Amino acid sequence: MHEMGIVLQIIETARAAIPPQLQGIQVKALNLRIGKLTAVVPESLRFCFNIARQDTVLAGASLRIEEVPIEAACRDCGERSIIETPPFTCSRCGGGDLAILSGRELIVTSLELADP
Ligand SMILES: [Zn+2]
Repeated sequence: MHEMGIVLQIIETARAAIPPQLQGIQVKALNLRIGKLTAVVPESLRFCFNIARQDTVLAGASLRIEEVPIEAACRDCGERSIIETPPFTCSRCGGGDLAILSGRELIVTSLELADP
């Protein structure tokens, strides 16, 4: 389950993002963007998060996950399409030479802190 490694990185990212003068503050919510190309399963991520957050700065935080679709641009005809499932082909010309525009994200977009 590679989600646990990802969760540990997310917790470390959150810890490092909190300024020193606010150490000890509770995080209310953590917002994440996850691209569908990352093959991260949101349910597994939540499961791991609920285990790993104990005794961390995220102990009381809720996890909000925004899934980012896979968008690709065809290098032959320029068409942009949202891709749901492999194989990745252009929806207009059927070509397979696609540039991936989004879907690889795995980003902590923001933290919401409790009032001190
Ligand atoms: Zn095309």
